[in-house]
Amino acid sequence: MTDVFGDLVGQDEAVAALRRAAASAAALLRAPVPAPAGGPDDLDALAEEHDGDPGPAPADPGAGMTHAWIFTGPPGSGRSVAARAFAAALECVHGTGCGSCPGCHTTLTGTHADVRLVVPEGLSIGVNEMRALVLRAASAPSGGRWQIVIIEDADRLTEAAGNALLKAIEEPPPRTVFLLCAPSTHPDDISVTIRSRCRVVPLRQPPPAAVAEVLVRRDGIAPDVAEWAAAAAQGHVGRARRLARDPEARQRRDAVLAVPRRLTGVGAAFDAASALIEAAEAEAAASVAEIDEAERTALQTALGAGGTGRGAAGAMRGAAGQLKDLEKRQKSRATRAQRDALDRALVDLAGFYRDALIMALRAPVAPVHTDTASLAGAGAQKWDAEGSLRRLEAVLECRAAIEANVKPRIAVEAMMLALWRG
Ligand SMILES: [Zn+2]
Repeated sequence: MTDVFGDLVGQDEAVAALRRAAASAAALLRAPVPAPAGGPDDLDALAEEHDGDPGPAPADPGAGMTHAWIFTGPPGSGRSVAARAFAAALECVHGTGCGSCPGCHTTLTGTHADVRLVVPEGLSIGVNEMRALVLRAASAPSGGRWQIVIIEDADRLTEAAGNALLKAIEEPPPRTVFLLCAPSTHPDDISVTIRSRCRVVPLRQPPPAAVAEVLVRRDGIAPDVAEWAAAAAQGHVGRARRLARDPEARQRRDAVLAVPRRLTGVGAAFDAASALIEAAEAEAAASVAEIDEAERTALQTALGAGGTGRGAAGAMRGAAGQLKDLEKRQKSRATRAQRDALDRALVDLAGFYRDALIMALRAPVAPVHTDTASLAGAGAQKWDAEGSLRRLEAVLECRAAIEANVKPRIAVEAMMLALWRG
């Protein structure tokens, strides 16, 4: 029952498609197509013949499988979970993603020799990283099945890195599979040329009931807590689990949802903006502190402390360069963590004004934040549907502005003023 796809919540269609692909991939390995014109790597032609055809014909082992995939969906819908599960199914020695064989197990724990996972830590994935990856992915799979490259947040590829990847996708080595994860297939997220070479697996935002069910079943969380957390997390599975388990995450959310009450004047609006930014900074700093320190210690150990002999001066210059590189990487990661923390806060805040809006409209929809529903109800009376909508839009505009590289403090201050004025 709990095979590798068990953790994909509320994604029945995507799971069915991935199971079919894994089965045809396994069939391909068992009975390679007797090399036609394109040779054994002509997965593309095989796949294209069957595009739009949901069921693989049993006679054709290539149907349903192709070498480049894009998993799309809103944050938290499980893009990377889906990509990893599919990778495990491809490496499964039984070809089904059983979840218990060495192929499945090592893929899911990140130790399979033929599966590489790229998780960008900074704001973008650079060209050097991508070239090195593409090169390694071209080698024959050591386990005899597939070489797999999973790229999380493929929307954060630099243009040059995207081009390096495109070359590999255009002329794929016979046993190499690329699994990309991105919010959407919009050209802002994925270049049109890469998109045209990939099969898309759209994931949807899982319904709160499905998220609650998995929290209860897998994490042993009490049903009432699971239901509240699933609704509050708005379909984000990881976020729901954190809210259910981590008191600090709950406190941060409480502080964000206190914002609407605190906006009593211009001064209060600026104070609220500062508080929100500083909370995001503190949360981000805490989340990267441990790994930053571990990296620094490891590098210092590797470089060796001190040294006075000949050549020590040159070695020190090299060491200084490496330390500088490390600091640059860490700074980039910290920026990313801050933006992610701030974005989570903005999503919570948007949920509040969305609740006010549905109440003003008397829409028969469950509130996102059950614990602040009465406050949202009071807002709905005061602001009416129009005022609630304007406030919701102010929060969404702030998210868009930060995404477009407006300085977070400036965007948040503008939002708070708009929320206060209405
Ligand atoms: Zn397996």
